[in-house]
This record gives sequence, C-alpha cells and structure tokens, in this order.
Amino acid sequence: MPSRLRLLLLAALLGLIGPGARAADAPLSVVASFSILGDLVQQVGGDRVQVSLLVGPDSDAHAVQPTPSMARRVAGAAVLFSNGLGFEGWMDRFLRAAAFRGTHVVVSAGLTPRAAASDHGHGHGHAHDVDPHAWQDVRHAIHFVARIADGLCAADAAHCAGHRARAEAATQRLQALHARIAAAWAAVPPDRRVVITTHEAFGYYGAAYGVRFLSAQGISSAAEPTPRAVAALVRQVKASGSRALFLERAGDPRLIERIARETGAVIGGTLYADALSAAGGPAASYETMMDHNTQALLRAVEAR
Ligand SMILES: [Zn+2]
Repeated sequence: MPSRLRLLLLAALLGLIGPGARAADAPLSVVASFSILGDLVQQVGGDRVQVSLLVGPDSDAHAVQPTPSMARRVAGAAVLFSNGLGFEGWMDRFLRAAAFRGTHVVVSAGLTPRAAASDHGHGHGHAHDVDPHAWQDVRHAIHFVARIADGLCAADAAHCAGHRARAEAATQRLQALHARIAAAWAAVPPDRRVVITTHEAFGYYGAAYGVRFLSAQGISSAAEPTPRAVAALVRQVKASGSRALFLERAGDPRLIERIARETGAVIGGTLYADALSAAGGPAASYETMMDHNTQALLRAVEAR
C-alpha cells in the first residue's frame, strides 16, 4: 500500500475516533421556532447547522402549548431563532422554564411592523397590536436572512465566511422571488386584486404586492356560520367585486359551495400562512410556499 494512502487512512480513522477533532467539526446545533423560519436558517447554515424546530410543518405556532420535548430541543442549542412581533406568544414563558443557555435571535428585530387586523381570528396567545406575519413580504425574509447570518457568525465565527456566502446566495434567490411575485400581480388589473379570506395573515403580502385582502364577514373559526352570517358574506362579496374566496376556516363545504353559487366567486385552495407543508407537499420550503400561494391567489382572481 502506498504510504500516502496509509497516511490518509490513519487520518480518517483519527478523525472518526478523536473526540476533539469530531467536536470541532460537528455542525452547530440550532433551533427555529417554526418551519418557515427553520427553512431560512437551513439555507444560511447549510451543512454547518443541525436545525430542529419547536413547531413543525402543518402546525400552528400561534397556539402552542410548550412541551418537555420542546424544552429538550433548546437545552443543548447554541442559537434559538424566533420571529418575534408576538407570533410566539408562549416564548417568554417557555424560555423561563427551559434550560436554554445559547443566544436568542429575534429575526424581525429592526423591521417596521404593520398594525394587526382588527379582529385577528386565530388565537394568538394574547392581544398584540402588531401583525406578526412579516415573512409574507419577501423583502422581510431577506431581512431575516441577514439576521440569521449575524446570529450564526456570532456563534460560529470559524465558519462565518460560509454563512455569509450562503446568505448572499439565498438573498439573490429571494430577490428573484420577490420580483417574480410583483411582476405576476402587476399583470392583473388593480380592481381584480381583491381576495376575501378567513385567515388574516396576508396584510404584509397585500401591502407588498398590491392585493386587497378583506376579512370574511361573519365567518369565524369559533362556530358554524349562521344563515345570517352567510347572507352577510354574500352581500360583502357582491359589494367588493371580489372573485376570490379563501374560506379555510368556514367549516361546512356545502355552505362554501352555496356562497360560491350565490356570488359567482371562486373558492380558492389552501394558502400556507404560518407553516410550511410537510416535505413532498406543495409548500415544503419558503420559496415554494410563496409561489404556491401566489399561484392559488392568481387562479382565483383571474377566473372568469
Ligand atoms: Zn397567523
């Protein structure tokens, strides 16, 4: 065996068994509070981070009851990334109870938040006067990426150049995504860019891309809509000129069909607001989520 190869084998073996060498090269253990943020952290950290999520895909991070397994996930983590703006209403309480000794990075810090919708219908822990869904404007996701790179560099200076390079690449992808969404909406006449939804999570999206999101009157997650509520919604749709209804929380599908029949509006599919879909689903990454939502909204407003 050539001596060079023997040396390589020896080095590989030492790398595997030497505890010092292994720890120095192990990826940084980090935590993201929810799946959308976890995807952005993964994009910036690449193979230098091991990302765990406090709240996984298809799960509502607003209304979480912190569990012992969530506390275990943060216990050994170097950095915890959260959205802030009251999105994780449970976070302060959770961190007091968990043995987290790393750095907590709030990625929305430095953004100017929007005011919350007047009757935010989906169970934030407590009343907040700002809208937490900042990531629905892609430019804010770019801001998140910069905060993530800062947080990873502070915790992992040895690999900072890699974090910065991946952040730059992610920023370029997100800039292209933002331009793509803006261009798609620019092609729709402004008076058709009206969407009625039960899920008040699209204020930032609407402001960024020139779409009016109206809250579905009378329909809440709390109860089955009454005939009076249905009549109110039918009147609202007709008066607004909206052709796009996204009524995820309205319950009875026969009712939704009736509203569509009486108004001529199109019932859109699922919008992903607060969580990614599971892997293999239509919104498994931040970028595919934004593209999926945009396509679903465009199909509904452009239908004739
Ligand atoms: Zn929400």
